[in-house]
Amino acid sequence: MSGIVVVGDGPAGHRLVERLRHHGHDGPVTVLGAEPRPAYNRALLTSVLDGSLTPDLLALPRPPGETRVLTGVAARVLDRRRRTVHTDDGTTHPYDVLVLATGAAPAHPGGLRTLADAPGPDPGPVSVVGGGVLGVETALALRRAGRRVTLVHRHPYPLNRLLDAVPGALLAAHLDERGVALRLGRRVAAQEPGGLVLDDGERVEAATVLHCTGVVPRTRLAAEAGLAVHRGVVVDDRLGTTDPRVHAVGDCAEHHGRAAAGLDAAWEQADTLARVLTGGDARYRPAPAHLRLKAPGLDLAVLGPPDPQGDETVLFTDPARGRHARLTLRAGRITGAQLLGMERAVAALAPFHDHGRPLPAGRFDLLLGRPANTGTGPVELPDSAIICTCNSVTKGALLHACREGAHDLPAVAAATRASTGCGTCTPELLRVCADLLTRKAS
Ligand SMILES: Cc1cc2nc3c(=O)[nH]c(=O)nc-3n(C[C@H](O)[C@H](O)[C@H](O)COP(=O)(O)OP(=O)(O)OC[C@H]3O[C@@H](n4cnc5c(N)ncnc54)[C@H](O)[C@@H]3O)c2cc1C
Repeated sequence: MSGIVVVGDGPAGHRLVERLRHHGHDGPVTVLGAEPRPAYNRALLTSVLDGSLTPDLLALPRPPGETRVLTGVAARVLDRRRRTVHTDDGTTHPYDVLVLATGAAPAHPGGLRTLADAPGPDPGPVSVVGGGVLGVETALALRRAGRRVTLVHRHPYPLNRLLDAVPGALLAAHLDERGVALRLGRRVAAQEPGGLVLDDGERVEAATVLHCTGVVPRTRLAAEAGLAVHRGVVVDDRLGTTDPRVHAVGDCAEHHGRAAAGLDAAWEQADTLARVLTGGDARYRPAPAHLRLKAPGLDLAVLGPPDPQGDETVLFTDPARGRHARLTLRAGRITGAQLLGMERAVAALAPFHDHGRPLPAGRFDLLLGRPANTGTGPVELPDSAIICTCNSVTKGALLHACREGAHDLPAVAAATRASTGCGTCTPELLRVCADLLTRKAS
């Protein structure tokens, strides 16, 4: 038996193997990974940039069971007729089922995607091009590491696709306060040794330039093998491609027109495919969009699509303290939210959004993180609520760790990895732990 071959040892490929074993698959699995090290959580790369984590701490646990993980080996050709994959080290891997988990590559050379792309300890100035989520997180991480950083963004404020102008300006002010030199509404005209030339002629000195201008799904193998490819490898609800023996998950896949949908989607797709491949009747259903910026001291969350449809808007703005909230509702349910500097509101509102539950009448109380319309006590979160986004740790997982004897932050962090990423969840984590312990004691 040839078994399952997974091309790509990123978070999606790794999660797939872990879930396959979890669901009882005991056949042979081979993972081909082009990077020189086994799977790691690249969403935590900015914690390596600021020195709060060493590269080793990003490693994902070794897959259970007899799984062959080959590192530094890239698949070059997919021969669907013979059901084989040929790699750049000259080997051939036959398969019964092939899973493409090849992820995405930076849209521009010099992008930040792998540990190898992270700038070295050279103390020279860094220019970050692109003020989307990755560009903002990267610029702030490098400032925390003491680097001189310029952020060049072609729009008037960062995260312009996700934020209105008011929170956008507050975010720009935050970056400025942290010492990031902003060049907004400017484009790069040329990159030269030692720096960038902007479209107004200004020369920005840079020992390192990092391009954070989006990603492109890696689809070459699939396209050359004649599979349907649009922006990504086209998949159905069961993560199947146009060949019944070939599947795709993670950033390389395009589901209902959406490709490179991020880490949560990659994990969710891998979970679904593992159930499909072990005989289950699972279907992938994308979760509502939920973005939380990973930067200590900057609490920014965007729930829902950039232009949510609504019949009610709740607006709270407090620029003097860098706080802003815009909530859009339809028939009493959240369709979108922009929350800046409103950490408690994020914890209170996200479960209503993520689970499509109607919001209680006391909207403003929820914005301030107080229980709405009810008595006292902390806002109730369901067990599925994610507390640590970096490591996808749910309240349920914290509860389990607490029951197993983890009674303080270091113990909970060791048991679940919660708070070991960007650290923005630490206050919420402390609150949930305190609440759990109070209940345990009563
Ligand atoms: C700094 C940073 C921060 C991020 N933060 C977030 C975040 O907060 N939230 C979020 O949702 N997403 C975030 N992302 C995006 C997230 O990391 C990706 O969505 C996720 O890694 C996708 O996983 P994947 O396994 O599909 O693809 P990848 O992580 O791209 O992994 C694919 C792997 O396949 C390998 N590969 C490719 N082609 C071949 C081949 N032919 N043969 C063998 N191996 C191959 C690649 O080398 C790579 O190791 C972030 C990304 C970065 C870089």
